[in-house]
This record gives sequence, structure tokens and C-alpha cells, in this order.
Amino acid sequence: MATAKQLAIKGKALIDGNGGPVLADPIVLLEGSRIAAVGSKDQVKIPHGVEVVDASHCTLMPGMMDLHIHLCMFNNRTFKNYRVAQWEVTPHLQQMYAYFHSQLCFEMGFTTLRDLGQQSTRGLMTESMCAVRDAIDAGVLAGPRIVVGAFTYMTGSHLELIFPRAAERHGFQNADGPWELRKLARTNLRAGCDVIKTCASGGGGTDKEEPDVRNHTQEELDAMVDEAHALHKQAAVHCFTPGAHRMALKAGADTIEHMVFHDDDSMEKIIAAGVWMTPTLAHRTDHAIAIRKDIGTPEFTLKKMKTIQPHCYKTFQRFYKAGVNIAMGTDMGFEPGMGSNAFELETYVGLGMKPMDAILTATRNAARALKRDKDIGTLEAGKIADIVAVDGDPLADIRILQERKRIQLVMKEGDIYVDRRPGHAKEIVHAEPDSWRKIDA
Ligand SMILES: [Zn+2]
Repeated sequence: MATAKQLAIKGKALIDGNGGPVLADPIVLLEGSRIAAVGSKDQVKIPHGVEVVDASHCTLMPGMMDLHIHLCMFNNRTFKNYRVAQWEVTPHLQQMYAYFHSQLCFEMGFTTLRDLGQQSTRGLMTESMCAVRDAIDAGVLAGPRIVVGAFTYMTGSHLELIFPRAAERHGFQNADGPWELRKLARTNLRAGCDVIKTCASGGGGTDKEEPDVRNHTQEELDAMVDEAHALHKQAAVHCFTPGAHRMALKAGADTIEHMVFHDDDSMEKIIAAGVWMTPTLAHRTDHAIAIRKDIGTPEFTLKKMKTIQPHCYKTFQRFYKAGVNIAMGTDMGFEPGMGSNAFELETYVGLGMKPMDAILTATRNAARALKRDKDIGTLEAGKIADIVAVDGDPLADIRILQERKRIQLVMKEGDIYVDRRPGHAKEIVHAEPDSWRKIDA
């Protein structure tokens, strides 16, 4: 049997993604797609003849993860006005843009993305996203690891209202009552999704919808989460209110999406259950609201986004202090823009999170939330080699994770996809951001 190819990466410093001390002069030794050893240059000797990737001006860290993204959405970087795009873009083209959006994140060091669902004028995008995931996994296309979440919702759900209220709904797949929803969940699971995504309350980015309305009944939520678990898959539940938290916890949700409103009781129950939450704060900032205005979002929605903003920040600060399990998620679909995912980490740090804890949300914590921490999330012997080399120290300035030129290497499963080290020019996306034509302009 042929032995797996060995490779050594030299860095200036290493953040292991486990919260351990920063390691100086690290060597990461790979064997095929896995890490064989990690240590300082005194601890790990590079075997004779092994190829060395010199990133000795860089900090090495695990590939980052964004656990709440909508790759099929009409992103502001690729579309001018999302309302126009909703009429002019076929699901087929939308799927191609979803792949492109995944690449924009990948080349910025996000090696795993959990896509939490989307629909088009002709129904759910579950099969389309599974196809993108599978083509990347097969090595046919270059991109990040994608975990596919599938919208599973009732008539008039917050998730459905992301689509215009008055739109013709060709082949729309909503369902009502526990058995219809079980069938929709099963249909999504048959299509190959990894996560059932549903909704317990209203939300932020939709027109004429208050965030404190209830969506599913308890019986319906229980049914959907049960179907996901029956097939050893996860359930992610969108929650804006403490009432929604209690319903999601009762149903046994694996992750609770967003941090908006809470009360003492819902916070205590979340901590006791040890459930993972994605804050999705980048999406709440003034920067995001300004982008939304620019892409044609109605005044009602903009006002609502501004009104909930202080609640989101306060909930995050309280939850962080109290020890809620936090995994990084942006809710990026429209804004701030695919590839700027680490703006979420900057937002956490701006609200008082320690930079190391912020990095953990996108590495170890995210892997634990996905129940994939045996394989990804940290730089340790035995783990899959998803590694990013950053020019600079993200613990000193978390913002450098948003600078394209600073992301010097992006490696997934032992293969280098992006190499921006001096003298190298390997990239996935062969156009400068914003140089492409906006097709709905
Ligand atoms: Zn979302």
C-alpha cells in the first residue's frame, strides 16, 4: 500500500483552535489529508525529503466555519436589487451563484459553511445546494465543505416571507400540521440535506412582519425535530423571542439561530440544555442596514432592523458572560457581503468578547455544534488538515481576517486552494471582488 504524501507547513505562530497558548515557530506535519503532528520546530522534526510550505511570516490557524449562511440568496456583491433579482433569476442561475458565493467565503479562509436554506420562484433550493455540496466533495469543483440545511416551514412562515408576500408561488413546498411537516422534512432528508431548518418566531429582514409573532405550534416543531433526529441529522431553529427559545428547547433543537430577545428563564434553560447558538450579529450592524437600504429594502424592514439592534447586542453580551455555547454564524445572504464573514468576529470583539474566544466560535465551537469535532475545528494530530495562514496576528487585530491579501494560504483536506504568499498567485476566484457585472442591474 502506498503511504500518504507528507507535507510540512512552517509558521511564525499557531492558534490551535482549542484555546491553548499561542505556539511560536510551529511546524504542522501532514500525512495525506490529515494532520500527523503539531509542535514547535524543536518538537517536530521535518523528515528528510518532505516538501516544506514556508509560511514562517504567518499565523497558522484552523480553517474557519460560518454556521449560518444563505448561499443562494441575492447577495449585494452579485446582485444590485434583490427584489428585481427575485423575478429575473432562475433557480439554475441562483445555484451557480450559490457556488460562487461559497468560493468567495472559501478564499477568505472559511473552509466549512453550514447553509441554512433558501427558496426560489420555483420552490426550495435543497436539491440545488446538495448538488453544490456533492460536486465539491467529489473534487469536481473547488470550494468549501458545505453542510446543507433545508427550509421546512408552514404557510406564511418567516422563512417563506423572505420571498415577496405577493409573489406567485410555483411549486412552493410549505406544509401545515405535524404530519404534513414530517413529510416535508422527509422529502428534504431524502434529497440529502444534513440539517432541517425551521422557525419558531417571526424575524428581522422581512416586510410587514413583527419579530414577536409565533410560527409553528409546539406539536409541529416537535415533529420536525423528531424527523431530523430519526435519520441522525440535526435541527436548527430560528428564534427571536424567549417563547421561541422555550419551544425550540422543548422540541430538542440542536442549534438555536440568532440572538435577539431573551428573558432570564430562557437564558437559564439554554445554558442548562447546553444547546449551541449562532448570534448572527454582523447582519444587525449599521453597516449592514446601510447595505440593505442600498439594495432596495423597504423602510419598514430597515426600521425594524434598527429597533432590534440594541436588543441583539445586549442579549449577546449577557449570553457570553453567562456562558451560553456560542458558535459563529453570520446569517449572510444579502449583507455585509460573501467573503467578509469575519466581520462577525469583529462585531463580537467590539461587544467585549476576548479575541481568542471569538476565534473559538469559528473553530472548535463550530465543529462541536456540528458534532464534527472529531475531524475538524482544531489543529491537532489526527484532524483533517483544514488550515489557514494569516499574515499578522488576528488576536492583536481581529479585523485582519477580512483582508484578502492577509489570507495567505487556504488549505482544505491537505490541499492548498489559495496561495497568496510572495511569489505565489493561486486563487479560486479569478476576478477582483466587485469587478463582475451585476446581472440584474
Ligand atoms: Zn438565516
